[in-house]
Amino acid sequence: MKIGKNIEQTENVKIIDAKNKICMPGLINTHTHISMSIFRETLDGYTLQDWLNNKIWPMEDKLTKEDIYYASLLSCIEMITTGTTMANDQYWMAEETIKAANELGMRLEVTRTINDVQGLQKQRLEELEKLIEEYNHKYDNITLNIGIHGLYTTGEETVKTSIEMAKKYGMNVHIHFCENEQETLDIKKAYNVSSPVEVLKKYFTETNNILAHVVKVNDQEIQELKKLKVSVSHCPISNLRLGCGIAKIQKMLENGINVSLGTDGQGSGSNLDMFETMKFTGLLQKGVNENPKNLDSYEILKMATINGAKALRQEDKIGSIEEGKMADIIILDLNTETCIPNGNIFSSIVYNAKGYNVCHTIINGKLVMENRQIGGIDKEKIYQKCAEIIERIQ
Ligand SMILES: [Zn+2]
Repeated sequence: MKIGKNIEQTENVKIIDAKNKICMPGLINTHTHISMSIFRETLDGYTLQDWLNNKIWPMEDKLTKEDIYYASLLSCIEMITTGTTMANDQYWMAEETIKAANELGMRLEVTRTINDVQGLQKQRLEELEKLIEEYNHKYDNITLNIGIHGLYTTGEETVKTSIEMAKKYGMNVHIHFCENEQETLDIKKAYNVSSPVEVLKKYFTETNNILAHVVKVNDQEIQELKKLKVSVSHCPISNLRLGCGIAKIQKMLENGINVSLGTDGQGSGSNLDMFETMKFTGLLQKGVNENPKNLDSYEILKMATINGAKALRQEDKIGSIEEGKMADIIILDLNTETCIPNGNIFSSIVYNAKGYNVCHTIINGKLVMENRQIGGIDKEKIYQKCAEIIERIQ
């Protein structure tokens, strides 16, 4: 990316007139499950553990590669049209998600999720290694990491092997951590520890770790977390919807922990619109701490952009508009009834803008959405396919 006035124009240059619009770094979603678009609104009446055991996992057993492909396309469309240019995914059959992302020009970090459910951990680890061998460094918009579902679903031996793999390939670790009270109780019992953080201190010291949720930690545990190489992916909407609680984000930031934002999958997060996530983040921390000075809007914008890049160790490439970085840029039109007048530009973006205020999305220098139109896809067909999938597996 080059920044300047009167940049020399080459032949195939495209000029976008962004007068009276806002050019900003693309949003980075550090925790989601891209293929879970088909599970929107399957949640009401369930706790997290009930929902996974009795609703989601039985349906997931029936998913085919083609299902993952169409479900991924749907999410990629949703992300591009709401200004997300990079997402950290955790699911499986990632080859299909990669295929969908490449067709639309989306930037992703993907994995093959590891856990001990059904005793299939060995097979899952083999699939992850195969995925890494085939796709690591294959496309410049696709990176891979080691996705461990959670300590409550993954035994000590599998965790150790996964961490060894992360070290072998120099990859990030992406794990759900302390999402609700039951999970922390399960981890303490399974690992025979007084705190789930003890497990991180034992095995996760040499890896860069992205911890999704981190709702159920106390002040002492936050002190311990800050000594480790961890970033927290805060997913406030999913946490509220599942009745998990509210993460102590203000405290974490005060302790210098890198906090980024995530939507979680649509099954628990409803949608992938990071503008909603930013708004909830600000409102919750001001409200629960009874302090309107908490988390100013610029801080929240950093959480949705550069902090996400740091979490994924890609801050040299993405997360801000800087010379030499990849051009992952969104253009917002805030000249709408929900946004004018623009008293404070940062607060307008966090509290008034919605995904539909994004008019252009550029990823890796390529215009993937122009005037809210994504070229070369049959949206109706994708919507229809996704509706058929959930109908079939429900
Ligand atoms: Zn999740």
